[in-house]
Amino acid sequence: MAKRDDRFERRTACACGTGLARLRASTVRTMISVTGTKQVEAWDRGVLPPVESVRPGVWSIPVPIPANPLRYVLVYALELPDGVALVDAGWDTPEAMAALESGLATMGAAITGVRAVLVTHIHPDHYGLAGRVREASGAWIGLHPADASMLRGRYLEPEELLHAMHDLMVDAGVPGERLPDLNAASMVIRGLVAMAEPDVLFEHGRRVELPGWDLDVIWTPGHSPGHVCFYSASRRLLLSGDHVLPRITPNVGVHMQQHPNPLGDFVESLLAVRNLDAEEVLPAHEYRFAGIADRVDEIVAHHASRLDQIRALLEERPGSTAWELTLRLSWSRPWEKIEPFMQRAANGETLAHLVLMEIHEQVRREGTNPARFYLTAGAQTPASTTGARTRGSGSGT
Ligand SMILES: [Zn+2]
Ligand SMILES: [Zn+2]
Repeated sequence: MAKRDDRFERRTACACGTGLARLRASTVRTMISVTGTKQVEAWDRGVLPPVESVRPGVWSIPVPIPANPLRYVLVYALELPDGVALVDAGWDTPEAMAALESGLATMGAAITGVRAVLVTHIHPDHYGLAGRVREASGAWIGLHPADASMLRGRYLEPEELLHAMHDLMVDAGVPGERLPDLNAASMVIRGLVAMAEPDVLFEHGRRVELPGWDLDVIWTPGHSPGHVCFYSASRRLLLSGDHVLPRITPNVGVHMQQHPNPLGDFVESLLAVRNLDAEEVLPAHEYRFAGIADRVDEIVAHHASRLDQIRALLEERPGSTAWELTLRLSWSRPWEKIEPFMQRAANGETLAHLVLMEIHEQVRREGTNPARFYLTAGAQTPASTTGARTRGSGSGT
């Protein structure tokens, strides 16, 4: 516990925007190469990819996510001398369990042979089914303590969290008529989780006890406070969970169950995996790929560009609330087509950028309920506005 707190202090105090300052969106081109060619073909056709042997001893099993643009989570099954270990599990739905069982059958295994479920983080598409798998097999479940400590407050007794999230949204400037909708959005997802306390708590830098495997835990907070990746040096493999995905970036937002500077954490966590000698990255969504350093640079540049956009918007309209900024930022789909849960996540993501700018003294907030944001004198660019969206780097120096 003490170790975790030390690291947490270091993270919140450090100049986490270093990477953001170095990189500009316009100068970075993605150099990743897709190794999951069947997965990307299936992605393009809008169907589930096949269960595949990724390399000796590692299988990829797509487990469907209901009514979600991500379509599936990729569960990885690692062969053990006496069974199988899973990295992530899927949602708690009968369809997900059936897909997992069928995938295990394809590789010649069975749910009863699962010895361990290594969960990258608390989100329902990764952790939701872990409890059922344990019931069926007696497997142990592993999770990072920072996520384990949030389980009860999120899935069993969420009232306090709901109140706190309500207050957070009022302070962000969410209009009263949208509050019930946005606040209730997460409750639907709660039904897709079988609450299960972990048996093993992962520690950063420690090796997971799995016979025949040298999987090391890399703590990568940002998307979730207890997100972890797993790295095998001998196989040159990185199991990246949601931390590094080939095409999209994970939501990194201010939330009542988050560290105070999630975007700063996330960038530092990206730099923590950037230089690993990983021949291939096995992400939890989309498709597997090679080129971790290039993908990390691209994600960092994306956030740097996002900071530029927010700076430009605040130059145009000083005193905007987080919600007003969120409505004016560009998103992957038209705002009205984004479901309430993701609108709330988008607002949290805007706040995460604002918090990072506050830490770098580029932004100050005034007032509460709602808080209004202003650029500091040091962050303002010369009077012209036309170049504002492309001028300046994403981080204070
Ligand atoms: Zn996630
Ligand atoms: Zn996910």
